Amino acid sequence: MRLDDESESTNYEIRSGRGGGGFGLPVGIPLGRGGLGCGSLILIGIISLVLGVNPLTLLGDGGGQGPVVQQQSQPGEAPGSSGEKTPVMSRSLKVLGSTERVWGRLFQEQGGTYQPTTLVFYSGGTQAGCGFANASAGPFYCPADKRIFLDTSFFDELSGRFGAPGDFAQAYVIAHEVGHHVQDLEGTLDKVHAAQNRLSEREANALQVKVELQADCYAGVWAAQDRNLLEPGDAEAGLRAAAAVGDDTLQKASQGYVVPEGFTHGSAADRQKWLRIGLDSGDPARCDTFGSRGP
Ligand SMILES: [Zn+2]
Repeated sequence: MRLDDESESTNYEIRSGRGGGGFGLPVGIPLGRGGLGCGSLILIGIISLVLGVNPLTLLGDGGGQGPVVQQQSQPGEAPGSSGEKTPVMSRSLKVLGSTERVWGRLFQEQGGTYQPTTLVFYSGGTQAGCGFANASAGPFYCPADKRIFLDTSFFDELSGRFGAPGDFAQAYVIAHEVGHHVQDLEGTLDKVHAAQNRLSEREANALQVKVELQADCYAGVWAAQDRNLLEPGDAEAGLRAAAAVGDDTLQKASQGYVVPEGFTHGSAADRQKWLRIGLDSGDPARCDTFGSRGP
């Protein structure tokens, strides 16, 4: 990707919580259906985790007005966990900045105003409005606090375990989460959630897949609208990443077989298909995974 000339978004927080002096904190948070996990995406459920700080102190930091850097420096911490921006964070913020410019323009064309989301970098675990997150949750968007949560160690997993290296694969992950924020602004997430409460688990999962595939399509729309960022091979890398985090791929890796009713993100083929529709059209209206009746 050509990110050198992109300006970084200022809508971010760095939360660091790993380090010495931790205490055991078993937390069980039952989440409603229609979980928000993405990317690799085994989301929050019941999590127990050792944290270096009280997660409650990380709450209530004010509404995303510029960067809020929370320093909890501990001796012997991993690089980048002291509130300093790492190169991978800077790259992520360039991608986020690009999504803000693209979606700002697209909303404006429809007579609306795009309200940017905030990217929360965390390390190990953090409290989100949707529950307690740890790195194994993968990146996710939380509508309750309108933020994207990302432990950048997920990117190592993406290139290692999921075989999808490259900066565009990382950009796709961020653009997918921004896609959920767009769905939130459009009112789609609320509608889906209301509908899911009336549906069986199988039907609710099927609806969740449509949410995920639309976010993939929106990621493609972003890339199409900022095509000068793409270098040869980038689109293919994004498509490989989409396949790598398809539910069937993840299920096969974890349990050796595929259960379509358990899909909440879509198959590898579907994820690639919808990312491709976004990439080829650059038009959010083409991302109609719900069909004409909507969610
Ligand atoms: Zn998602």
